Amino acid sequence: MFTSIEQIESSVSDGGAGARAVGGLDSNTSFVDQKLVDEAYESLEKQHELRSEPRRRLWAEQRSAAYLLKGKKQGRVSKCLKSLAYGKDGVNVEIYDERARFGNLMTCGNVWTCPICSRNISRIRAREANKALAWARAKDSEGFINATPMMMTLTARHGRKDDLAVLVNGLLEAKRMMFQSKKWRKIKPRIAGFLIAFEITHGKNGWHPHFHIIFFVKTSSSKEAAKLLSMKALWLRCLRSQGLSGNGHGFDLAEGDKVGNYISKFGAADGFRTSDAVKRISDAKRAGNWDLASEITAQHRKKSTRKLGSGRNPWELLEDYTHEGDNQAGALFIEFAEVFHGKQQLQWSRGLKQLVGVDEITNEDAADADVEFLGELDRIGITISPRDWYELLKKTTRIQRLEILETAELTDDDEMVWLKVEELLGRDADRELDNYRQIKERREISYQHS
Ligand SMILES: [Zn+2]
Repeated sequence: MFTSIEQIESSVSDGGAGARAVGGLDSNTSFVDQKLVDEAYESLEKQHELRSEPRRRLWAEQRSAAYLLKGKKQGRVSKCLKSLAYGKDGVNVEIYDERARFGNLMTCGNVWTCPICSRNISRIRAREANKALAWARAKDSEGFINATPMMMTLTARHGRKDDLAVLVNGLLEAKRMMFQSKKWRKIKPRIAGFLIAFEITHGKNGWHPHFHIIFFVKTSSSKEAAKLLSMKALWLRCLRSQGLSGNGHGFDLAEGDKVGNYISKFGAADGFRTSDAVKRISDAKRAGNWDLASEITAQHRKKSTRKLGSGRNPWELLEDYTHEGDNQAGALFIEFAEVFHGKQQLQWSRGLKQLVGVDEITNEDAADADVEFLGELDRIGITISPRDWYELLKKTTRIQRLEILETAELTDDDEMVWLKVEELLGRDADRELDNYRQIKERREISYQHS
Protein backbone atom coordinates (compact mmCIF):
# COMPACT_ATOMS: atom_id res chain seq x y z
CA MET A 1 0.00 0.00 0.00
CA PHE A 2 1.23 3.46 -0.84
CA THR A 3 0.63 6.25 1.56
CA SER A 4 2.33 9.08 -0.23
CA ILE A 5 3.39 10.18 -3.64
CA GLU A 6 7.04 9.88 -2.60
CA GLN A 7 6.51 6.18 -2.04
CA ILE A 8 4.82 5.80 -5.40
CA GLU A 9 7.61 7.62 -7.15
CA SER A 10 10.37 5.65 -5.53
CA SER A 11 8.58 2.38 -6.23
CA VAL A 12 7.92 3.32 -9.83
CA SER A 13 11.46 4.52 -10.39
CA ASP A 14 12.75 1.15 -9.15
CA GLY A 15 10.52 -0.63 -11.62
CA GLY A 16 11.55 1.78 -14.31
CA ALA A 17 15.24 1.15 -13.71
CA GLY A 18 14.76 -2.58 -14.27
CA ALA A 19 12.73 -2.01 -17.42
CA ARG A 20 15.19 0.47 -18.82
CA ALA A 21 18.07 -1.94 -18.41
CA VAL A 22 16.26 -4.32 -20.76
CA GLY A 23 14.44 -2.22 -23.26
CA GLY A 24 15.81 1.30 -23.02
CA LEU A 25 13.40 4.21 -23.26
CA ASP A 26 10.99 2.68 -25.78
CA SER A 27 7.27 3.24 -25.75
CA ASN A 28 6.60 -0.11 -24.12
CA THR A 29 8.64 0.80 -21.05
CA SER A 30 6.84 4.05 -20.54
CA PHE A 31 3.53 2.21 -20.88
CA VAL A 32 4.49 -0.10 -18.03
CA ASP A 33 5.63 2.83 -15.95
CA GLN A 34 2.43 4.71 -16.55
CA LYS A 35 0.31 1.73 -15.60
CA LEU A 36 2.20 1.35 -12.35
CA VAL A 37 1.81 5.01 -11.65
CA ASP A 38 -1.90 4.96 -12.44
CA GLU A 39 -2.54 1.98 -10.21
CA ALA A 40 -0.54 3.44 -7.40
CA TYR A 41 -2.34 6.76 -7.65
CA GLU A 42 -5.68 5.02 -7.80
CA SER A 43 -4.93 3.10 -4.65
CA LEU A 44 -3.69 6.23 -2.92
CA GLU A 45 -6.71 8.22 -3.98
CA LYS A 46 -9.03 5.52 -2.77
CA GLN A 47 -7.40 5.53 0.65
CA HIS A 48 -7.47 9.26 0.61
CA GLU A 49 -11.17 9.34 -0.20
CA LEU A 50 -11.86 6.83 2.51
CA ARG A 51 -10.19 9.13 4.98
CA SER A 52 -11.52 12.38 3.62
CA GLU A 53 -15.21 11.68 3.18
CA PRO A 54 -16.14 11.24 6.86
CA ARG A 55 -14.11 14.29 7.81
CA ARG A 56 -15.79 16.33 5.09
CA ARG A 57 -19.14 15.26 6.52
CA LEU A 58 -18.06 16.23 10.01
CA TRP A 59 -16.80 19.64 8.92
CA ALA A 60 -20.05 20.21 7.07
CA GLU A 61 -21.88 19.36 10.29
CA GLN A 62 -19.77 21.88 12.18
CA ARG A 63 -20.69 24.45 9.56
CA SER A 64 -24.37 23.63 10.12
CA ALA A 65 -24.03 24.03 13.88
CA ALA A 66 -22.38 27.43 13.34
CA TYR A 67 -25.16 28.42 10.96
CA LEU A 68 -28.00 27.22 13.19
CA LEU A 69 -26.60 28.92 16.30
CA LYS A 70 -25.46 32.13 14.66
CA GLY A 71 -26.03 35.17 16.85
CA LYS A 72 -26.98 33.07 19.88
CA LYS A 73 -24.92 32.71 23.02
CA GLN A 74 -24.18 29.14 21.96
CA GLY A 75 -22.70 30.50 18.74
CA ARG A 76 -19.03 30.27 19.75
CA VAL A 77 -18.82 27.18 17.56
CA SER A 78 -18.83 29.57 14.59
CA LYS A 79 -15.33 30.71 15.56
CA CYS A 80 -14.06 27.17 16.02
CA LEU A 81 -11.12 26.35 13.74
CA LYS A 82 -11.46 29.77 12.14
CA SER A 83 -10.00 32.41 14.43
CA LEU A 84 -6.30 32.40 15.15
CA ALA A 85 -5.52 31.34 18.71
CA TYR A 86 -4.37 34.14 20.99
CA GLY A 87 -0.79 35.21 20.43
CA LYS A 88 -0.21 33.07 17.32
CA ASP A 89 1.21 34.67 14.21
CA GLY A 90 0.23 32.21 11.51
CA VAL A 91 -1.74 29.05 10.81
CA ASN A 92 0.44 25.97 10.59
CA VAL A 93 -0.39 22.94 8.52
CA GLU A 94 0.68 20.23 10.93
CA ILE A 95 1.56 16.86 9.45
CA TYR A 96 0.98 13.72 11.45
CA ASP A 97 1.47 10.12 10.52
CA GLU A 98 -1.32 9.97 7.94
CA ARG A 99 -3.17 13.16 8.57
CA ALA A 100 -2.85 16.87 8.51
CA ARG A 101 -4.58 19.51 10.56
CA PHE A 102 -4.50 23.24 11.07
CA GLY A 103 -2.45 24.30 14.05
CA ASN A 104 -2.71 27.59 16.01
CA LEU A 105 -6.45 27.93 15.48
CA MET A 106 -8.94 28.56 18.23
CA THR A 107 -11.12 25.63 19.21
CA CYS A 108 -14.45 26.31 20.90
CA GLY A 109 -14.31 23.39 23.34
CA ASN A 110 -18.08 23.02 23.37
CA VAL A 111 -19.19 19.50 24.21
CA TRP A 112 -22.82 20.08 23.27
CA THR A 113 -22.72 22.04 20.05
CA CYS A 114 -19.40 21.46 18.28
CA PRO A 115 -19.18 18.09 16.55
CA ILE A 116 -15.41 18.40 16.18
CA CYS A 117 -14.48 19.56 19.68
CA SER A 118 -16.92 17.19 21.32
CA ARG A 119 -15.28 14.24 19.59
CA ASN A 120 -11.85 15.21 20.74
CA ILE A 121 -13.06 15.92 24.24
CA SER A 122 -15.03 12.67 24.36
CA ARG A 123 -12.02 10.61 23.55
CA ILE A 124 -10.05 12.15 26.39
CA ARG A 125 -13.01 11.70 28.73
CA ALA A 126 -13.43 8.10 27.63
CA ARG A 127 -9.80 7.44 28.42
CA GLU A 128 -10.23 8.97 31.85
CA ALA A 129 -13.37 6.96 32.54
CA ASN A 130 -11.56 3.81 31.48
CA LYS A 131 -8.88 4.57 33.99
CA ALA A 132 -11.51 4.67 36.69
CA LEU A 133 -12.86 1.30 35.55
CA ALA A 134 -9.39 -0.21 35.47
CA TRP A 135 -8.81 1.10 38.96
CA ALA A 136 -12.07 -0.53 40.14
CA ARG A 137 -11.08 -3.88 38.63
CA ALA A 138 -7.59 -3.86 40.14
CA LYS A 139 -7.13 -6.30 43.00
CA ASP A 140 -5.48 -5.75 46.33
CA SER A 141 -2.97 -8.09 47.99
CA GLU A 142 -5.78 -10.27 49.29
CA GLY A 143 -7.33 -10.63 45.86
CA PHE A 144 -10.27 -8.26 46.39
CA ILE A 145 -11.16 -5.74 43.69
CA ASN A 146 -11.11 -2.07 44.67
CA ALA A 147 -14.76 -1.51 43.84
CA THR A 148 -17.77 -2.88 41.97
CA PRO A 149 -18.98 -0.55 39.21
CA MET A 150 -22.74 -0.26 38.96
CA MET A 151 -24.60 1.83 36.45
CA MET A 152 -27.75 3.67 37.38
CA THR A 153 -29.88 5.29 34.68
CA LEU A 154 -32.27 8.03 35.74
CA THR A 155 -34.94 9.67 33.67
CA ALA A 156 -38.55 10.81 33.81
CA ARG A 157 -41.63 10.04 31.77
CA HIS A 158 -41.69 12.27 28.75
CA GLY A 159 -44.03 13.07 25.91
CA ARG A 160 -44.08 14.94 22.64
CA LYS A 161 -45.54 18.07 24.16
CA ASP A 162 -43.00 18.47 26.96
CA ASP A 163 -41.13 21.71 27.26
CA LEU A 164 -37.49 20.64 27.16
CA ALA A 165 -36.28 23.33 29.55
CA VAL A 166 -38.89 22.38 32.15
CA LEU A 167 -38.08 18.69 31.79
CA VAL A 168 -34.32 19.21 32.05
CA ASN A 169 -34.48 21.56 34.99
CA GLY A 170 -36.85 19.20 36.80
CA LEU A 171 -34.49 16.28 36.23
CA LEU A 172 -31.48 18.23 37.44
CA GLU A 173 -33.35 19.32 40.55
CA ALA A 174 -34.57 15.77 41.25
CA LYS A 175 -31.00 14.49 40.95
CA ARG A 176 -29.76 17.16 43.32
CA MET A 177 -32.44 16.12 45.82
CA MET A 178 -31.47 12.47 45.52
CA PHE A 179 -27.89 13.31 46.42
CA GLN A 180 -29.07 15.27 49.44
CA SER A 181 -31.40 12.61 50.77
CA LYS A 182 -30.94 10.75 54.07
CA LYS A 183 -30.73 7.47 52.18
CA TRP A 184 -27.83 8.74 50.10
CA ARG A 185 -26.00 10.12 53.12
CA LYS A 186 -26.34 6.71 54.71
CA ILE A 187 -24.80 4.75 51.85
CA LYS A 188 -22.25 7.39 50.84
CA PRO A 189 -19.43 5.96 53.03
CA ARG A 190 -19.72 2.75 51.01
CA ILE A 191 -19.22 4.54 47.69
CA ALA A 192 -15.66 5.22 46.52
CA GLY A 193 -16.88 7.69 43.94
CA PHE A 194 -19.16 8.14 40.96
CA LEU A 195 -19.35 9.56 37.46
CA ILE A 196 -22.45 11.26 36.10
CA ALA A 197 -23.04 11.58 32.37
CA PHE A 198 -25.89 13.71 31.05
CA GLU A 199 -27.38 12.62 27.73
CA ILE A 200 -30.35 13.24 25.52
CA THR A 201 -32.06 11.71 22.52
CA HIS A 202 -35.15 12.69 20.57
CA GLY A 203 -37.63 10.05 19.44
CA LYS A 204 -41.27 9.39 18.86
CA ASN A 205 -42.07 10.36 22.46
CA GLY A 206 -40.22 13.62 22.17
CA TRP A 207 -37.11 14.53 24.14
CA HIS A 208 -35.53 11.91 26.33
CA PRO A 209 -32.96 13.47 28.66
CA HIS A 210 -31.33 11.04 31.07
CA PHE A 211 -28.42 10.51 33.43
CA HIS A 212 -26.09 7.56 33.49
CA ILE A 213 -24.32 7.30 36.82
CA ILE A 214 -21.50 4.84 37.36
CA PHE A 215 -21.08 4.19 41.06
CA PHE A 216 -17.93 2.57 42.37
CA VAL A 217 -19.18 0.60 45.35
CA LYS A 218 -16.68 -0.53 47.97
CA THR A 219 -17.49 -4.21 47.79
CA SER A 220 -16.61 -7.13 45.58
CA SER A 221 -20.18 -8.42 45.71
CA SER A 222 -22.41 -7.00 42.99
CA LYS A 223 -25.39 -8.32 44.88
CA GLU A 224 -24.49 -6.22 47.87
CA ALA A 225 -23.78 -3.24 45.60
CA ALA A 226 -27.20 -3.58 43.97
CA LYS A 227 -28.88 -3.74 47.36
CA LEU A 228 -27.13 -0.60 48.53
CA LEU A 229 -28.16 1.27 45.39
CA SER A 230 -31.80 0.22 45.37
CA MET A 231 -32.99 3.79 45.24
CA LYS A 232 -35.94 3.50 42.88
CA ALA A 233 -38.59 4.62 45.34
CA LEU A 234 -36.41 7.53 46.38
CA TRP A 235 -35.87 8.60 42.75
CA LEU A 236 -39.60 8.47 41.97
CA ARG A 237 -40.26 10.60 45.05
CA CYS A 238 -37.69 13.15 43.90
CA LEU A 239 -39.33 13.23 40.47
CA ARG A 240 -42.79 13.73 41.92
CA SER A 241 -41.57 16.66 43.97
CA GLN A 242 -40.66 18.30 40.65
CA GLY A 243 -44.01 17.56 39.08
CA LEU A 244 -42.48 14.75 37.02
CA SER A 245 -43.28 11.06 36.90
CA GLY A 246 -41.10 7.98 36.55
CA ASN A 247 -43.83 5.70 35.27
CA GLY A 248 -41.86 2.55 36.05
CA HIS A 249 -39.10 3.33 33.54
CA GLY A 250 -37.48 6.24 35.30
CA PHE A 251 -34.98 4.12 37.18
CA ASP A 252 -32.65 1.35 36.11
CA LEU A 253 -29.71 -0.31 37.78
CA ALA A 254 -27.27 -2.46 35.81
CA GLU A 255 -24.46 -4.55 37.19
CA GLY A 256 -21.63 -6.82 36.20
CA ASP A 257 -21.70 -7.90 32.56
CA LYS A 258 -24.50 -5.53 31.77
CA VAL A 259 -22.30 -2.58 32.60
CA GLY A 260 -19.60 -4.03 30.35
CA ASN A 261 -21.98 -4.55 27.42
CA TYR A 262 -23.52 -1.19 27.78
CA ILE A 263 -20.16 0.45 28.07
CA SER A 264 -18.65 -1.18 25.00
CA LYS A 265 -21.70 -0.60 22.81
CA PHE A 266 -20.24 2.64 21.57
CA GLY A 267 -16.65 1.54 21.45
CA ALA A 268 -16.52 1.52 17.67
CA ALA A 269 -18.65 4.59 17.35
CA ASP A 270 -16.68 6.73 15.10
CA GLY A 271 -17.36 7.88 11.63
CA PHE A 272 -14.01 9.05 10.57
CA ARG A 273 -11.17 6.78 11.36
CA THR A 274 -8.95 5.21 8.80
CA SER A 275 -8.94 1.44 8.67
CA ASP A 276 -5.56 1.59 10.32
CA ALA A 277 -6.84 3.67 13.18
CA VAL A 278 -9.77 1.30 13.55
CA LYS A 279 -7.25 -1.46 13.99
CA ARG A 280 -5.45 0.56 16.60
CA ILE A 281 -8.71 1.02 18.45
CA SER A 282 -9.53 -2.65 18.32
CA ASP A 283 -6.03 -3.36 19.62
CA ALA A 284 -6.64 -0.92 22.42
CA LYS A 285 -9.95 -2.66 23.08
CA ARG A 286 -8.28 -6.02 23.30
CA ALA A 287 -5.74 -4.55 25.66
CA GLY A 288 -8.68 -3.40 27.77
CA ASN A 289 -8.09 0.32 27.36
CA TRP A 290 -11.10 1.28 25.37
CA ASP A 291 -14.22 -0.48 26.72
CA LEU A 292 -15.78 2.40 28.51
CA ALA A 293 -15.27 4.50 25.42
CA SER A 294 -18.15 6.59 24.48
CA GLU A 295 -21.29 5.39 26.12
CA ILE A 296 -21.01 7.68 29.05
CA THR A 297 -18.73 10.23 27.47
CA ALA A 298 -20.09 10.75 23.99
CA GLN A 299 -23.03 10.16 21.80
CA HIS A 300 -21.19 9.86 18.54
CA ARG A 301 -22.01 6.83 16.49
CA LYS A 302 -22.26 5.80 12.90
CA LYS A 303 -25.58 6.17 11.19
CA SER A 304 -25.52 2.49 10.28
CA THR A 305 -25.36 1.61 13.98
CA ARG A 306 -28.46 3.60 14.84
CA LYS A 307 -31.07 1.40 16.38
CA LEU A 308 -34.55 1.58 14.98
CA GLY A 309 -36.85 3.41 17.33
CA SER A 310 -34.08 4.41 19.75
CA GLY A 311 -34.37 8.07 18.88
CA ARG A 312 -31.70 10.39 17.57
CA ASN A 313 -28.99 12.00 19.67
CA PRO A 314 -28.07 15.64 18.98
CA TRP A 315 -25.25 14.69 16.60
CA GLU A 316 -27.65 12.58 14.60
CA LEU A 317 -30.08 15.48 14.44
CA LEU A 318 -27.25 17.64 13.13
CA GLU A 319 -26.29 14.94 10.64
CA ASP A 320 -29.83 14.64 9.31
CA TYR A 321 -30.15 18.40 9.03
CA THR A 322 -26.83 18.67 7.20
CA HIS A 323 -26.93 15.71 4.86
CA GLU A 324 -30.63 14.87 4.52
CA GLY A 325 -32.04 18.37 4.49
CA ASP A 326 -34.17 17.59 7.55
CA ASN A 327 -35.11 21.09 8.75
CA GLN A 328 -37.11 19.82 11.69
CA ALA A 329 -33.95 18.10 12.94
CA GLY A 330 -32.19 21.46 12.66
CA ALA A 331 -34.88 23.16 14.73
CA LEU A 332 -34.61 20.43 17.37
CA PHE A 333 -30.83 20.89 17.48
CA ILE A 334 -31.29 24.60 18.23
CA GLU A 335 -33.81 23.84 20.98
CA PHE A 336 -31.44 21.31 22.52
CA ALA A 337 -28.42 23.66 22.29
CA GLU A 338 -30.30 26.45 24.04
CA VAL A 339 -31.44 24.28 26.94
CA PHE A 340 -28.14 22.41 27.42
CA HIS A 341 -25.98 25.52 27.23
CA GLY A 342 -23.69 25.63 30.27
CA LYS A 343 -24.85 22.25 31.61
CA GLN A 344 -22.22 19.79 32.69
CA GLN A 345 -21.90 16.74 30.45
CA LEU A 346 -19.69 14.60 32.60
CA GLN A 347 -19.18 15.06 36.29
CA TRP A 348 -16.78 13.24 38.59
CA SER A 349 -17.52 13.03 42.30
CA ARG A 350 -15.08 14.93 44.46
CA GLY A 351 -11.82 13.07 45.02
CA LEU A 352 -12.44 10.31 42.46
CA LYS A 353 -9.94 11.65 39.94
CA GLN A 354 -7.18 11.74 42.55
CA LEU A 355 -8.17 8.29 43.74
CA VAL A 356 -7.84 6.71 40.31
CA GLY A 357 -4.96 8.90 39.17
CA VAL A 358 -6.55 11.14 36.53
CA ASP A 359 -5.26 14.68 36.01
CA GLU A 360 -7.61 17.60 35.52
CA ILE A 361 -7.92 18.51 31.82
CA THR A 362 -10.27 21.30 30.87
CA ASN A 363 -12.61 20.89 27.91
CA GLU A 364 -10.65 23.56 26.07
CA ASP A 365 -7.38 21.65 26.45
CA ALA A 366 -9.06 18.35 25.64
CA ALA A 367 -10.51 19.86 22.46
CA ASP A 368 -7.02 20.90 21.45
CA ALA A 369 -5.55 17.52 22.20
CA ASP A 370 -7.14 16.09 19.09
CA VAL A 371 -6.45 12.48 19.94
CA GLU A 372 -7.84 11.48 16.57
CA PHE A 373 -4.28 11.49 15.39
CA LEU A 374 -3.17 9.07 18.05
CA GLY A 375 0.37 10.05 17.38
CA GLU A 376 3.13 12.57 17.51
CA LEU A 377 3.45 15.56 15.26
CA ASP A 378 5.77 14.60 12.40
CA ARG A 379 6.52 18.09 11.18
CA ILE A 380 5.03 21.47 10.45
CA GLY A 381 4.35 22.04 6.77
CA ILE A 382 3.50 25.47 5.48
CA THR A 383 2.60 28.42 7.66
CA ILE A 384 -0.21 30.62 6.40
CA SER A 385 0.19 34.25 7.44
CA PRO A 386 -2.66 35.84 9.41
CA ARG A 387 -3.39 38.14 6.49
CA ASP A 388 -3.70 35.25 4.04
CA TRP A 389 -5.70 33.22 6.53
CA TYR A 390 -8.28 35.94 7.08
CA GLU A 391 -8.51 36.39 3.35
CA LEU A 392 -9.12 32.66 3.06
CA LEU A 393 -11.87 32.92 5.66
CA LYS A 394 -13.55 35.59 3.55
CA LYS A 395 -13.19 33.79 0.24
CA THR A 396 -13.69 30.15 1.13
CA THR A 397 -15.96 27.81 3.03
CA ARG A 398 -14.81 25.37 5.71
CA ILE A 399 -14.96 22.56 3.22
CA GLN A 400 -12.82 24.43 0.72
CA ARG A 401 -10.20 25.08 3.38
CA LEU A 402 -10.24 21.39 4.11
CA GLU A 403 -8.76 20.93 0.63
CA ILE A 404 -5.55 22.41 1.99
CA LEU A 405 -5.28 19.58 4.51
CA GLU A 406 -6.29 17.02 1.94
CA THR A 407 -3.57 18.23 -0.41
CA ALA A 408 -1.02 17.96 2.39
CA GLU A 409 -2.16 14.41 3.11
CA LEU A 410 -2.17 13.40 -0.52
CA THR A 411 1.17 14.83 -1.55
CA ASP A 412 3.26 15.51 1.54
CA ASP A 413 4.74 18.24 -0.66
CA ASP A 414 4.72 21.74 0.81
CA GLU A 415 4.86 23.43 -2.56
CA MET A 416 1.68 21.67 -3.66
CA VAL A 417 -0.01 22.72 -0.44
CA TRP A 418 1.11 26.26 -1.01
CA LEU A 419 -0.25 26.17 -4.56
CA LYS A 420 -3.61 25.00 -3.19
CA VAL A 421 -3.71 27.99 -0.84
CA GLU A 422 -2.89 30.32 -3.71
CA GLU A 423 -5.53 28.71 -5.88
CA LEU A 424 -8.14 29.23 -3.14
CA LEU A 425 -7.04 32.83 -2.81
CA GLY A 426 -7.35 33.26 -6.55
CA ARG A 427 -3.75 34.37 -6.99
CA ASP A 428 -1.21 33.84 -9.73
CA ALA A 429 0.31 30.61 -8.50
CA ASP A 430 3.67 30.70 -10.24
CA ARG A 431 4.62 34.08 -8.91
CA GLU A 432 3.50 33.07 -5.47
CA LEU A 433 5.47 29.87 -5.65
CA ASP A 434 8.60 31.93 -6.21
CA ASN A 435 7.69 33.98 -3.19
CA TYR A 436 7.16 30.84 -1.24
CA ARG A 437 10.62 29.56 -2.15
CA GLN A 438 12.11 32.81 -0.95
CA ILE A 439 10.18 32.69 2.29
CA LYS A 440 11.19 29.08 2.78
CA GLU A 441 14.83 29.89 2.17
CA ARG A 442 14.69 32.77 4.57
CA ARG A 443 13.01 30.63 7.15
CA GLU A 444 15.52 27.85 6.79
CA ILE A 445 18.29 30.34 7.22
CA SER A 446 16.66 31.82 10.29
CA TYR A 447 16.12 28.32 11.73
CA GLN A 448 19.80 27.59 11.27
CA HIS A 449 20.59 30.71 13.20
CA SER A 450 18.14 30.14 15.97
ZN1 LIG B 1 -15.27 23.45 18.35
